[in-house]
Amino acid sequence: MFNPNIINKTYTLGDYQGDTRLASNRFIILHESGNDNDKRDSQALLHEVQYMHNNYGSAYVQFFVGYMDGKAQVYQIGEPGYVSWGALTANPYAPVQIEFARTGDKQQFREAYRLYVEVARYYANAYGIPLTLDSGGNGIKTHQWVTNNFGGDHVDPYPYFAGMGITKSQLAYDLANGFDDEPEPEKKATINNVVTVTADYFKAFTTTNSKGVPHIGTDILSGTAWQSADILVRDKKAYFKIGNDTYIPQSVTDKAGKIVINYLDGYGVNAYNSKGQSIKDSNQVFKGGTSWATGEELFKVPNVGWCYQVSTDEYIPVKFQQGSGFKG
Ligand SMILES: [Zn+2]
Repeated sequence: MFNPNIINKTYTLGDYQGDTRLASNRFIILHESGNDNDKRDSQALLHEVQYMHNNYGSAYVQFFVGYMDGKAQVYQIGEPGYVSWGALTANPYAPVQIEFARTGDKQQFREAYRLYVEVARYYANAYGIPLTLDSGGNGIKTHQWVTNNFGGDHVDPYPYFAGMGITKSQLAYDLANGFDDEPEPEKKATINNVVTVTADYFKAFTTTNSKGVPHIGTDILSGTAWQSADILVRDKKAYFKIGNDTYIPQSVTDKAGKIVINYLDGYGVNAYNSKGQSIKDSNQVFKGGTSWATGEELFKVPNVGWCYQVSTDEYIPVKFQQGSGFKG
């Protein structure tokens, strides 16, 4: 999903520059610069935008997309919604026209192309224009289509796109569907069962020993991160279960001296008093991802079980500590 906040407006035309007519909301028009020199200029996007800004009287569009400084970028020149001058007599029907700065690098192309499609989709939706490509009626149109239907001689962006592996049908598909392989924001972002060892050197232990003595196990190195499946309480202290019957003390991890609430983003968990009563509205405070200082010793709260103490009479169950194995 395109975020318009990323648009670079450094070279946007002033209020008194360019066409003052509102466009009718029929077309989004797609171009590419046709300038093969751009392939040899790592700052091609900036140079194209500066040129267009300085020479808007001959031609300009609303947006210029390209790859520069390690990422796909989009600049605004003309004001969306108003007529721009990129496609002759079709101009009055396009609230947005989009240019593309050439690159010879296919990976850079793919990233810039993706942004270009997202910009087109975003403004088509904003102006109620169908996400169809070069078909009848309103919709997204290439300059080639404009030439076929309104005259002129430009055929962009097809020849260059084809050379970079994007056919007409692929462009149509991408405009219609967007890119859905972008991961959704992770709802459970603050649920986290990874613990990182901070002690220089020590050994994990296992519980299985015929004499009931902690069995010394694997060497654990500082800086290593472990997925913890559970928290074992032993002598009022918490131990993370980092392997099958393998435990490390909380005191040698990045969770030493604190509880980091292992819960959903934006949601909180209840704290209890020493009698096991839930503290009203405490879930407004102890939200997923927040961190609270605790002592090393745990407390057994009636009807609740082992808890971390987070203030004089506030306790939070160990299952809400990161590394508890809690999954939400
Ligand atoms: Zn064009």
